[in-house]
Amino acid sequence: MRKKIVAGNWKMNKTPKEAMELVAMLKDKVDTDNVDVVFCVPAINILPVVDALKGTNIAVGAQNVYFEESGAYTGEISPAMLEEAGVKYVVVGHSERREYFAETDETVNKKVKKILEHNMTPIMCCGETLEQRELGIEIEFIRTQVKCGLAGLSAEEAQKVVIAYEPIWAIGTGKTATSQQAEEICAAIRQVIKELYGDKTAEVIRIQYGGSVNGKNAAELFAMENIDGGLVGGASLKEEFAQIVNY
Ligand code: PEP
Repeated sequence: MRKKIVAGNWKMNKTPKEAMELVAMLKDKVDTDNVDVVFCVPAINILPVVDALKGTNIAVGAQNVYFEESGAYTGEISPAMLEEAGVKYVVVGHSERREYFAETDETVNKKVKKILEHNMTPIMCCGETLEQRELGIEIEFIRTQVKCGLAGLSAEEAQKVVIAYEPIWAIGTGKTATSQQAEEICAAIRQVIKELYGDKTAEVIRIQYGGSVNGKNAAELFAMENIDGGLVGGASLKEEFAQIVNY
């Protein structure tokens, strides 16, 4: 039985002071007994949020990492820095990073490997554009993203990865995929994992849905056989996030 995982992606929101207010508002409201809960916060908020969440079971996630250990990479943050700071999850390959910051399947793969090497869990995002969906090529496209992202990983390593299916047309638009649409793609992702690694890995790996998840649609989405929780953007900045976690 896979444990559900709900992660909030704060994106580029909340100053350190505002982050403390949001954590204080949410931390006692989310049920962490039945669901793994993660706050993926902006880099500057990692240390204070780790501190503020001490004594809870809420984990802190980063929204990006670089794939080198250290050196002349101005502006980047290394996996060792995140690990030492207490980060447990790292979002990688989010569509916003692919679109605005030149993230590619190849850099996603390098980052996934580094994150695992540093004992953190990658939340590896994939998802199609509206145009790809209209052309009927969404499954093929996502299969490729997943295969490239996991390239070179052993079954044991792949089992630790969380995959987030996020149709780009549903992110921040208020347009949610229907639970059937989301389930269809999450099942297709599990099928790729089965082809690559066999039944056990396919059974164990967790697959989230992301794209305008809210307090009203979470229960129906998370009830689907192949959906193991959600990656939540806009609604993770509000009290509604607790409703999603406690669906
Ligand atoms: C996201 O940022 O990963 C996301 C799914 O955003 P939203 O929930 O706002 O659509």
